[in-house]
Parts: sequence; C-alpha cells; structure tokens
Amino acid sequence: MTATTAPVLPVVEVDLPPEEAAELAEGLDHVGDEHADTVLLVARALGDQPDARSVEILGVSADGLRLGVSAADGSVWPVQVPFASPARTSLEIYGALMGLVAAARGVVGDSEPLTSIEAEFLEDQGMTTVAATVSARRLLAPGLLEVTLAGLAPVPLHGGDEYVVLMPDPPDEVLRPGFSVSDLAGVPLETAPRATYTLRARRPAAGEADVWLVLHGDEGAVSSRLAAAEPGAPVAVWGTRRSYDPPEGTRTQLLVCDETALGAVAAVVDGLADGERAVVVAETGGAGIRPALPERPGVELRWVHRSGAAPGTTSALLDGVRAALAECPVLADLDGLFVFGAGEAARMRELRTALRRETGLARDRVRLTGYWNAAR
Ligand SMILES: Cc1cc2nc3c(=O)[nH]c(=O)nc-3n(C[C@H](O)[C@H](O)[C@H](O)COP(=O)(O)OP(=O)(O)OC[C@H]3O[C@@H](n4cnc5c(N)ncnc54)[C@H](O)[C@@H]3O)c2cc1C
Repeated sequence: MTATTAPVLPVVEVDLPPEEAAELAEGLDHVGDEHADTVLLVARALGDQPDARSVEILGVSADGLRLGVSAADGSVWPVQVPFASPARTSLEIYGALMGLVAAARGVVGDSEPLTSIEAEFLEDQGMTTVAATVSARRLLAPGLLEVTLAGLAPVPLHGGDEYVVLMPDPPDEVLRPGFSVSDLAGVPLETAPRATYTLRARRPAAGEADVWLVLHGDEGAVSSRLAAAEPGAPVAVWGTRRSYDPPEGTRTQLLVCDETALGAVAAVVDGLADGERAVVVAETGGAGIRPALPERPGVELRWVHRSGAAPGTTSALLDGVRAALAECPVLADLDGLFVFGAGEAARMRELRTALRRETGLARDRVRLTGYWNAAR
C-alpha cells in the first residue's frame, strides 16, 4: 500500500456529461463531509478496516467507491469498496451507495449505533406533509420577494438555516395522512413541482415563517407559482432540515451567499451569540438590491455585485471572499475559521476549491452548498 494525497473533490471515473460528473463529485463530497460516520461504517464493515478512525471519499468508478483511510501521520491510504453491481449514472451510484450502507449494517447488526444517513432516512419517513397556506407577500428588493407562510405549527424548529421543501398547489395525493417526504420520489416533478427554500424567520407561536424567494422569470415552476399565490393559497411543506453546523473550535465565521441564500445567512446571523465574530460577503445583481440584513456588533457586512451580469455567471463572490480574507483582520485566524454559505452550484464549487487550495482550510471548516444550477 502506498500513501496518497486527498484530492480537493472526489474523482469521478465514470463516463458522465461534465456537469453531471461535477455535481456527483460535489454530492459525494457532501456525503463525505456531512455523513463521515456513515462512510466510516462502510469502510470498517466492507473495506476490511475495522480500526479505521477517519475516512474520506477519494473517488468513484462504476465498480465501487475509493476511500481514503487516514493514518496517524496524516497520510491517506486508498481502500476499494465494490458496489454489488456496476453503477453508470449518478442515480445508480447514489443507489449503490445506499446499498453499501445497508450491506454494512447487515455486517455489524445492532452492535453499532445508527449513522447519520440511516437516521435521516428514518427521519424522512416520519417527515409528513404539513398543509400550509401563503398569508402575505412583500417585495424586499427588485427580484427578491418575501413570502409569508401560515399553518406551520407542526413543523419542528431546528434553528440556523432551517430549510423546507415547498410545493404550491399540492395535489390531493400528497395531502393524505401519512404521506412523507420519502414518498415524493414517486410523484412526478412535472405534475407537482417543488423546491427547497430556507425559512428566513420563524414565529412559532403564530405558526408562521417568512421565505426570501428569488424571482427568476417564468421558467421557475415553483418560484413563479409562489410569487403569484394569493393569500390563502395552499402550499405543502416538508421539513425542516439544517446544514449550518460550525465545528468545535470555531472562533470566526465567514458567511457567503448569492441572493438565494440571503435568507439563510440572515437567519444564521440572527442566531449568533453576542460578541461572536463574522464577516458576511453577499452577492446581488447590483447596488440597488440590498435587502436589510440583521446588524450585530462583531458582524461585518460586505456587498459584492454582478453589475448587471446574469446570476451565477461571474466570479464576484470569489473575488469578494478573496478581498475579505486579505482585508479583514478577524479572518486571519484560519485555525478558528468556519466558512458557511450557498449559491449557484458551479460558483460554490469554484469557491470551495479556491478556499481549500489557498487557505488549506480542512473539509469540516468549509460548508458551501449549491442551492441552484445555472446549467439546467
Ligand atoms: C437547501 C436549499 C435552500 C434554498 N433556499 C432558497 C431560498 O431561501 N430562496 C431562494 O430563492 N432559493 C433557495 N434555494 C434555491 C431554490 O430551491 C432553486 O432556485 C430552485 O431551482 C427554484 O425552483 P424553481 O421551480 O423556481 O426553478 P426551477 O424549475 O428549478 O429552474 C428553472 C430555471 O431557472 C433557473 N434558476 C433556478 N433558480 C434560479 C435562481 N435563483 N436564479 C436564476 N436562475 C435560477 C434554473 O437554472 C432553470 O434554468 C434553496 C435551495 C436549497 C438546496
């Protein structure tokens, strides 16, 4: 066995269109980051690594996963875990991955606690439809609409960047008792469009929440329906989940967003403790689009703009992050830095790669999510 260097993103050795391959790499990276315990179970049970302490996904081929098992000296040893049968599309690869988790569970039985993916799977089955309504709409800035939802009392509170799946004009089948978010896989998107949105603010006592919705023309099936929804219009809701989870030792946060994640970043800033330090780099189309973000002592807000260019097509956010790292003294403490944010998928990949290469930040210190995809 020879030591290997961990790549920035898992390497996809499957013949896929470039955009699908890039998304798969990002998805596997997310699995490695957010579900490291599940990957560890797979490595221990199926990769003949019972003593593995930490594992990451180095790559995937049609035949299986290539994992990197970390040694005490920091080197990474490759271990191949084969799929039950060849997987040639992203969907098949995710299916094969779930197959590995089930097989690993079969090997260890009840001797190991449920991993995060298994727990999410169980949680999904209990995440049933909440029949909510639109109760108000308010234009915050050109292209950014605040939509208030009512009837959310049954949706559990998690704080942070809580997000939900929203389906305007839901068909009867999703409103039947017991219908869960797992059952959505069987409901065609064309007949029942749905999308994920972050709850900018919650008012649990009133069962209400606000969502900051980006308007992006008529082709957005969900956004255009929500934008046109009159008070009282029905919306099915499933949730909530959250992704914001700063690791232990975080002393400063760099919060990054385009318009779609302004609500998420605003909710995170709301939840910061007094004196917690953060720098926000927020991208919008132009200087006229600056919705009110919460102001807190210790939080510096920096706007960057695309100056008329289409969303998701510029390096405005990357340039803004580089400038912030160079100019904000609080960001010099890289050991205590946590980067959280979201925006267009390719821009987030670009930013994640640049941050890892240029700052050497560890994986668990960079949580950047692709919220939408300009290539679709
Ligand atoms: C965890 C999570 C949280 C999210 N939170 C929010 C939120 O709080 N607010 C919010 O506005 N969005 C949010 N999004 C993004 C939102 O889910 C997507 O923008 C989604 O595609 C909107 O669905 P749609 O039916 O309107 O458009 P789709 O039918 O999915 O897309 C139609 C076309 O519009 C383009 N498109 C999609 N989104 C945008 C955009 N924002 N700008 C420009 N073009 C676009 C696509 O490339 C496609 O060509 C979040 C996504 C995730 C994963």
